[in-house]
Amino acid sequence: MLFKASVGLCIFKKILRARLNTTSLYFLRTFHIGEMAKSKFEYVRHFETENKCLLNCWIVVRVDGKGFHKFSEAHKFERPNDKRGLDLMARAAASVFEDLNEVCFGFGHSDEFSFVFKKTSQVYNRRHEKLLSLVTSKFSSAYVFYWRDYFGDEVKLLYPPSFDGRVVLYPTDQNLRDYLSWRQADVHVNNLYNTVFWALVLKKGLSNKEAEEKLCGTLSSDKNEILFSEFNINYNNEPEQFKKGTSLVRKVVKQKGKKPRMVAVPLHCDIINDKFWKENPEILECDTAGEIEVQEGKMTVLYVTPRDWWGAQAPDKAIEPTKLPVKNVFFTYTKGRYGFSEQFCRDELRKLQEKHMSREAGDIIYNFAIGGSGKTYECRGWAVSPKLGKRYKQLSNQSIFIAYMGIFKGTMPTIKMMRAGDWLVKLGIRRGFIDTKFVQYHITATGYEGYTSQKFDLATEDSEKCFDVTL
Ligand code: ATP
Ligand code: ATP
Ligand code: MG
Ligand code: MG
Repeated sequence: MLFKASVGLCIFKKILRARLNTTSLYFLRTFHIGEMAKSKFEYVRHFETENKCLLNCWIVVRVDGKGFHKFSEAHKFERPNDKRGLDLMARAAASVFEDLNEVCFGFGHSDEFSFVFKKTSQVYNRRHEKLLSLVTSKFSSAYVFYWRDYFGDEVKLLYPPSFDGRVVLYPTDQNLRDYLSWRQADVHVNNLYNTVFWALVLKKGLSNKEAEEKLCGTLSSDKNEILFSEFNINYNNEPEQFKKGTSLVRKVVKQKGKKPRMVAVPLHCDIINDKFWKENPEILECDTAGEIEVQEGKMTVLYVTPRDWWGAQAPDKAIEPTKLPVKNVFFTYTKGRYGFSEQFCRDELRKLQEKHMSREAGDIIYNFAIGGSGKTYECRGWAVSPKLGKRYKQLSNQSIFIAYMGIFKGTMPTIKMMRAGDWLVKLGIRRGFIDTKFVQYHITATGYEGYTSQKFDLATEDSEKCFDVTL
């Protein structure tokens, strides 16, 4: 059938070639390809279905090695923990971070790794299959790709490993934290068991079965006691990597001789307690600005209030995410009233939001607004497209839009306001929302005023948020 059709088309082409000039032939060729793309088989496309991950939920993709008990035996993994294997898992996970910008946190141990996508992520339209298959396949291929870097030539990869994958949605921050706590608690339980088990087998010569029987029904305290009294091992002194698993976070990293850049950094720390989340607020706050306070010396130079605090309404249109990191920063004026007090700013922002929503903008049009005292208010936040005016409309999904509250005809915003603006941009760069190279625009009440290309050197910045690690 196909053969016949193509023979038919060839003859048809021959006849035409005799009559047509070359330009027409070009069209004929395009026409031919176009027809092929729309073959009669095309209808089967409608059998495909799309499963979208529920909006407003954290998306977690967890991969786990298939039959890694056997795999680790076949490749002579050290017991109870093969550091090379764990480091390779973390390297494979970093590849997933490199591929998918929207992954904001990772946690793994043994043969599993979990990846957390931002709540508002719109990557691949939140398509379940796409996210699951991309994470799982990237992880698996990276595991194989980097095998030699960790196991050298002595331990050859004997067969291609595979990983299963699942997607789980968590609606609240607490649910997400509990999920991660559950995985870290699992590391503790398994590692304590394995440490005693392998000490009994490798150092005391017990068979696997004997060791298993000895440990049956024991509590954590019993296991700690066996380790201490029989092997002189204090479990607390075991490496953090084995006890706490590996957390992957995105940080700006300074590298010798290279430009600082945002990379996935492995940490081996407690993620069950609040401390970690307070020290790394950008993970849970990756979608909203949250409450931010930046101090210089003893002075607060930036204070950002979350949008709930000024009584913002929920957007009445679907939000469009920005392409992070954005390349443009727009500064404008609200053209509204100017005032210092918190009450004034809240009222003013609510009015502005109402006005913008009545003009079909879906929400207040800015990402942030800065009041007279320099206090900053979250509007659309970091990761949502602002609504720029006609002239710059096409840049909306590549921009951050910051408004000074007031008109400022013939005057300037106060020093405090402008300093808050600068700090907001700096913070955006550090958190990976704004590119280190960006264009800064100023829009006045009369429209466009000017723009400057800016380059932000993270290395010369004060480096409290920079991590010095060798990668
Ligand atoms: P499944 O296919 O159901 O996942 P599995 O054999 O992979 O089965 P898991 O419960 O996932 O079983 O456990 C993974 C096993 O892999 C661990 O019990 C451990 O024996 C081994 N393993 C994985 N990574 C390491 C490592 N770095 N060092 C030592 N052992 C490891
Ligand atoms: P997506 O990520 O959306 O799948 P894609 O770039 O993978 O985008 P596909 O529609 O999957 O696009 O098309 C795969 C493309 O890869 C083909 O158009 C072709 O250009 C190229 N390609 C794949 N395999 C081969 C091959 N063996 N020889 C030549 N080109 C190939
Ligand atoms: Mg497994
Ligand atoms: Mg496992």
